[in-house]
Amino acid sequence: MPVTGVVVPVAVGAALWTLAEYLLHRFDMHSRAGRGETARAHRAHHRTLEVPALTLGTWVGAGLVALAFAAGGEPLVAVGWMVAYVGYELTHRLIHVDGRPAGPYRRWVRAHHLHHHLVDARSNYGVTSPAWDVVFRTYRRPRAGAGAAGETEAGKGEAGGPGAHARWRRGR
Ligand SMILES: [Zn+2]
Ligand SMILES: [Zn+2]
Repeated sequence: MPVTGVVVPVAVGAALWTLAEYLLHRFDMHSRAGRGETARAHRAHHRTLEVPALTLGTWVGAGLVALAFAAGGEPLVAVGWMVAYVGYELTHRLIHVDGRPAGPYRRWVRAHHLHHHLVDARSNYGVTSPAWDVVFRTYRRPRAGAGAAGETEAGKGEAGGPGAHARWRRGR
């Protein structure tokens, strides 16, 4: 099999995960009507900035989608999807536990995601990549120093008026 026969389906699987990452975060976890488990758990994540030790539901969900790709004759798409999903889990954890990230990607990804947490919760829904935020016009350049800002700054100066984010976190 030529190398593109491997690279292309793996890249497609990874790209599909980043799209799912964006859509789930924006429309499920941040759903105003979301009284479901994921929306509740995500509000708690915005309140505490802690990542649960094991996000069992999403692991099972991502695994089932990978199995479906494999069963549909696309095992390499399944591999790309799963690798990108595991990468997302590790990246999101690192963002919240490593206050002094090394390397340009880790510094950027932390500032990008903390902008979502601390400045404007209606921007930067993609965690590992800005691609879908650019496509759907929710990308905001991380504020200089957002990654270094004290995590107690949550909700200050966000778009939509001060406190909108705090109200969302309280579930109103
Ligand atoms: Zn987070
Ligand atoms: Zn969020």
